Amino acid sequence: MKKGKIIVLSAPSGTGKSSIIKNLMDYPELNLGFSVSATSREPRGKERHGVEYYFISHEEFKRKAEAGDFVEWEEVYPGTCYGTLKSEVQRVTEAGQNLIMDIDVKGGLNVKKLYGEQAITIFILPPSKEELEKRLKGRGTDAENVIKKRLEKADFELSFAPQFDVSVVNDNLDKAVEEVKKIIIEA
Ligand code: ADP
Ligand code: 5GP
Repeated sequence: MKKGKIIVLSAPSGTGKSSIIKNLMDYPELNLGFSVSATSREPRGKERHGVEYYFISHEEFKRKAEAGDFVEWEEVYPGTCYGTLKSEVQRVTEAGQNLIMDIDVKGGLNVKKLYGEQAITIFILPPSKEELEKRLKGRGTDAENVIKKRLEKADFELSFAPQFDVSVVNDNLDKAVEEVKKIIIEA
């Protein structure tokens, strides 16, 4: 594994990106630093400001975007924005760590365009649409209408998979974590 890699994980919501990343963080040999994105959505479940996300208002998000504080940002769902802060990329890379990002499909491809060979884009696939729905419902953190919006976007997001460097099916979580770990080590 070369130094200063950028690892991008993208997938439809509920596929298991956060679970995979959480498990990968337990391997010190991967030397990963998580890129904490900014978002204009409300915290979900036990999420904490500065850990899973920087939770900011829509107005502050717009101000930051206009000030050029983001490497990339997207309105992933109507009215809800997410973005990678330049300060996060700096924080992690200056600590000598490999940067791992959980970002949407468009953001993932933009990062690849910006960083080229330094970035590896990994698409996480759900075993099926039915299982995806089950996971979103089972997570128990989103309202019915939010789950509906996320499922409606899944087909669009899945159509981006061929543009990623590699795809991994998250059927069994431990297996998916092992597969992604291997990809990172070989990157
Ligand atoms: P994402 O970050 O992609 O939105 P999460 O990591 O929050 O997805 O996972 C969504 C839900 O699915 C969570 O409740 C998580 O515990 C569960 N989950 C993740 N991976 C698996 C798996 N391989 N098998 C069954 N459930 C899973
Ligand atoms: P969630 O609300 O489930 O945490 O995330 C919703 C979507 O936003 C996911 O596809 C997630 O990967 C994406 N996302 C999170 N942070 C960023 C970011 O900084 N930039 C972009 N483009 N997407 C992000």
